[in-house]
Amino acid sequence: MPILSPKTAPRSTQIAYLDVAHGSRTYRIELKRIGSARRFTLRVRAATRDVVLTMPPRGSLAGARSFVERHVAWIGARLERLPAPMPFGGGEIVPIRGINHRIVERPRRRGNVWIEPAERGLADAKLPLLCVGAEPAHVARRVKEFLMREAKRDLEAAVARHAAKLGVAPRKLSLRDTTSRWGSCSSTGALNFSWRLILAPSYVLDYLAAHEVAHLVHMNHSPRYWKVLGELSPHVERAETWLKTHGAGLLRFGPQPD
Ligand SMILES: [Zn+2]
Repeated sequence: MPILSPKTAPRSTQIAYLDVAHGSRTYRIELKRIGSARRFTLRVRAATRDVVLTMPPRGSLAGARSFVERHVAWIGARLERLPAPMPFGGGEIVPIRGINHRIVERPRRRGNVWIEPAERGLADAKLPLLCVGAEPAHVARRVKEFLMREAKRDLEAAVARHAAKLGVAPRKLSLRDTTSRWGSCSSTGALNFSWRLILAPSYVLDYLAAHEVAHLVHMNHSPRYWKVLGELSPHVERAETWLKTHGAGLLRFGPQPD
């Protein structure tokens, strides 16, 4: 079951795009024809920094274009106000288990990624370092691979611990990169998690592992389910609150989510 399920979206029957120029910029607008839509509606989605126009099934493309053109300044202003993306590159910051690290390129030490305590004498000496032994062009990929390995290790350990406590056996654990859910549990016992949970404080990752493992006992969010989950995780409310407040911010880091 999804932990943060997307709001039930109306079924869209067709997806297309519209590119609209504004000053020196061009915005790509996703068009969604929705059976129940009576008018054009624009949305700027913070998580993915994209723009969606929902429109009635019979709305014309010319009508859609003219609507978007009338609101293009609004789109630009909304996108500008979103927190900036934080790419994985030398000098950038990435949180690991809730603690900010500065990414440092160490091209002479090929192939390795490792963590060092804060360097003394540097301006922001407080930050530990994520050192990447790669040429600049490969740093982002290396950082993501490193974070996915760490995420998998933490999640496997947490899932094994919670599963042993309940006497259940998850079938498989996979990492995903979705914007709509942090974890899920299929009816066949396969668990999926967002690799971005490694960016969050450890109690959040641990809670998500417990949340999905508890679904192996109750495939729903009934009171009996929450009772089982409460026995596994002491952080149910704290972690849910953290995800509601900061979860979308995790999507800023590294490559865009799927
Ligand atoms: Zn759930």
